[in-house]
Amino acid sequence: MFDVYNVLNIEPVKAENVYFWDRDGNKYLDFYGGHAVISIGHSHPHYVDLVAGQLNRIGFYSNAVKNHLQEELEQKLRALSGCTDYNLFLCNSGAEANENALKLSSFVTGRSKILAMRTAFHGRTSGAVAVTDNPIIQAPWNRGHQVTFVGLNDAEALKRELAGREYAAVIVEGIQGVGGIRVPTREFLRVAREVCDQTGTLLILDEVQSGYGRTGKFFAYQHAGIEPDLVTMAKGMGNGFPVAGVLIHESIKAEKGMLGTTFGGNHLACAAAIAVLDVIKDEQLMENADRVGSYLMEQLKVLNGVIEVRGRGLMVGVDIDIPHAIFCRRLLADQHVITGTSGKNTLRLLPPLCVTREEIDEFVARFKQVMS
Ligand code: PMP
Repeated sequence: MFDVYNVLNIEPVKAENVYFWDRDGNKYLDFYGGHAVISIGHSHPHYVDLVAGQLNRIGFYSNAVKNHLQEELEQKLRALSGCTDYNLFLCNSGAEANENALKLSSFVTGRSKILAMRTAFHGRTSGAVAVTDNPIIQAPWNRGHQVTFVGLNDAEALKRELAGREYAAVIVEGIQGVGGIRVPTREFLRVAREVCDQTGTLLILDEVQSGYGRTGKFFAYQHAGIEPDLVTMAKGMGNGFPVAGVLIHESIKAEKGMLGTTFGGNHLACAAAIAVLDVIKDEQLMENADRVGSYLMEQLKVLNGVIEVRGRGLMVGVDIDIPHAIFCRRLLADQHVITGTSGKNTLRLLPPLCVTREEIDEFVARFKQVMS
């Protein structure tokens, strides 16, 4: 394999709910969810039924024909998210969703500049990586894009930049994930909405990591009570099946052919995404994320070695007084607990939304052990 990742020496071969097992039968508590991807829990029976059943009927045909599953998915997504005034464009990954949102903004405004946030992460394709604040993952070619970065929550800088009416869009994460679980303030998002309206700029909310109920509302920006022009989503949308989308406000019109992708909205992807919405609704997983997420944060705040706890619901960043969070992650893995990291000293917790109080107690007990 082309070697690009820091891989833990663990191989999951079977999984259920918030646990997986390796080849030797060791059981692991999954507080990473494969990077916020496992939303409804591993191997959920309704998900398995819908995806397997669909594969037995028809797994794929291209967008050259009708596919009622796309309509069903859009309808269920609108109902559960409350985004009733949006149309859905389906694609395959978070980066691709952002790429399409950025491109569509440029098409409809006729402008080519984008305003992005410091410490943002939006993916690794050409446009998505250009609005990502990490020069190490940008090739010289990606730097040709016209992108300006301002501090997250710096409303004055945002106003100054947008005043000249040159920007196609502002792109901001519902909560910054890779950048260390940084939450945009309500005030900042409200000012962004207002100034975008005044200057003919589109507002893109990247909910790839923070969306799908993870923060207790369907999308994290909904805590601020605003309405973006475009919302991108991926990760939790398919619970492991590669599926992504852009919610496009109905006031935005695209001409046929402007956007497209071969695999987007295929039958299997739709079946997976529909199953996820069904389970989030039926099992009230947004409410659970809110409830047990607050409990998790309360438990963590009082622990020795914890400097700060940030986040909302089940998207939690823990700053620890060990300089290398990656070392802590390894020690936790030795205790059969899987977590993520960001930056030098932040642990990132993104458990499936079905996690229970008892499982949180189990996590906290093992985390305490490692910290001591
Ligand atoms: N946006 C955000 C906020 C993300 O966290 C990520 C993935 N970490 C992406 C976009 C890119 O998603 P993908 O890897 O599916 O392209």
